[in-house]
Amino acid sequence: MKKITVLLSIFVLALGILAAGCGGGSKGDKKAASGTPAAKEELIVGTEPSFAPFEFPEKDSKEFTGFDMDLIRAIAKEMGYKKCTIRNMGFDALIPAINSGNLDVSIAGFSITEERKKQVIFSQPYYKSGLAFVVRKDVNDVTKFEDLQKKTIAVQMGTTGALYADKLKEKGAVVKTFNTSDLACMELKNKGADAVISDLPVLQYFLKNGGSEYAKLAGEPLTAEDYGIVISKKNPELAKQVDAALDALKKNGTYDKLYEKWFGSKPAK
Ligand code: GLN
Repeated sequence: MKKITVLLSIFVLALGILAAGCGGGSKGDKKAASGTPAAKEELIVGTEPSFAPFEFPEKDSKEFTGFDMDLIRAIAKEMGYKKCTIRNMGFDALIPAINSGNLDVSIAGFSITEERKKQVIFSQPYYKSGLAFVVRKDVNDVTKFEDLQKKTIAVQMGTTGALYADKLKEKGAVVKTFNTSDLACMELKNKGADAVISDLPVLQYFLKNGGSEYAKLAGEPLTAEDYGIVISKKNPELAKQVDAALDALKKNGTYDKLYEKWFGSKPAK
């Protein structure tokens, strides 16, 4: 009889351990044995750091810097995480990594689109952006988007810019896709492409930091797009917490301070 009781308690204990191990949520959601929330340990963030001024390698350091990087570190702190770890991966690998649970959140200048909303949750918008294009300085016959039909266009794989460029494919444009935004711009420099379609603030930063030697903006901005932070549909609680942290940072002035640091002006209301 005693033996059965011992066996039974081992079984019950094992069940308890199993149940605890199956809990969903991010690393920070784990509850301590007492039932009170444990200190949030680590928020795992994914990005693709070739997208200055939003995410790019910090000079003489292994860290990444930029508006998105500052913002997500501030959000993690506001949410009570002790550590915010930033992982570097290909842009088109970020959503799959969110959905497989390898990342808690992703911030990478992600435009909020209906197509992506079918796969993930977006936070509230945190930056107003949009697509535009640059051409090589010696290209003088492109003044509007349609003029790109006869041209070779470089884009970053999996981006809204790549989708936009595809509209011109059947009209004769050649579209070359690259893993990073930097490589797309490099192709322009090497005369392997006539134009790059990307996000306006990124193109402006690129022109200001050396790109204007061989490239120039052409035509009007193509779209208006909002950036959002990406969270798994399996984790709506985390999405709510990210939104609450963003609200708090907007309210306490941190968001405006970071915006001014990176863009030199206050965000438009
Ligand atoms: N905003 C664009 C998109 O969401 C580009 C993002 C990027 O290249 N990091 O597709």
